[in-house]
Amino acid sequence: MAEAGETARPAAPNGAAGVAQVSVAAVGVEVLRPAAPDGTARVVLLGRQGSGKGTQADRLSALYGVPHISTGDAFRDAIRNGSQLGRTAQGYVDRGELVPDEVVVGVLRERLFPAGSVGPGSTSGFILDGFPRNIPQAEALADLLAPDGLDVVVNLDVSTDEVLRRIAGRRVCVGCGASYNVVDNPPKAPGVCDACGGRLVQRDDDTEEAIRRRLEIYESVTAPLVDWYREQGVLATVDAAGSPDEVTTRAVAAIEAARQRKPVR
Ligand code: ADP
Ligand code: ZN
Repeated sequence: MAEAGETARPAAPNGAAGVAQVSVAAVGVEVLRPAAPDGTARVVLLGRQGSGKGTQADRLSALYGVPHISTGDAFRDAIRNGSQLGRTAQGYVDRGELVPDEVVVGVLRERLFPAGSVGPGSTSGFILDGFPRNIPQAEALADLLAPDGLDVVVNLDVSTDEVLRRIAGRRVCVGCGASYNVVDNPPKAPGVCDACGGRLVQRDDDTEEAIRRRLEIYESVTAPLVDWYREQGVLATVDAAGSPDEVTTRAVAAIEAARQRKPVR
């Protein structure tokens, strides 16, 4: 989703914390713009199902010029393609259970270090969506990224009532995986993806049963990562109620603040 033809521009002199308010064609909205969309931002998004991680990750990926790495999308692609990975993951995904750590970590390693890159430590920027989901995965991520680590972990904070309402309206594109919401973030034409013209459907794992299970797992094994990352001084909590544009603006402000605190690599 990284846009073509966008070049890094100096921040407006009067922009808050070096962040200019301009429209971004690829995102199609008026949001805060990063001071340095130079492909080096290293961001993890945390948040319950329905907190808007996928939507925000797409936008942040375009704004910062870094890949959006979604382990959930990786599994859905693999299931669609009928690959060995897809066959391994399918049962877990359908039930709303976590795919075993060693499988997910393998997928993550491939996405972070595609063939040709030199290996751990050599990756530049990314927006991680759906990984890590428990403390062992967070430890594996830290090992993969050593010695540099993360710029910031953005915790998209939204109530359970609100996420249940959002998930009911959630639709995804069968072509490119872009996500929409029939109420909050509708496509221009009903049922059709703005980005690729693909058909929009409900996810197979957005059944009441699987959603309940995913939210339970979030509370028990993923939510502890909030404190874990807070203790490491990399957590930024962002209010994820409100429009997608409002949340993007808050997330960019949080990322910019964290990157300014961090010494230049
Ligand atoms: P959601 O956030 O709505 O649960 P995702 O697209 O992030 O959706 O994930 C869909 C499914 O993919 C999960 O329910 C799980 O089965 C699997 N999955 C994704 N990421 C991970 C992960 N980091 N660890 C284990 N399983 C994962
Ligand atoms: Zn699409």
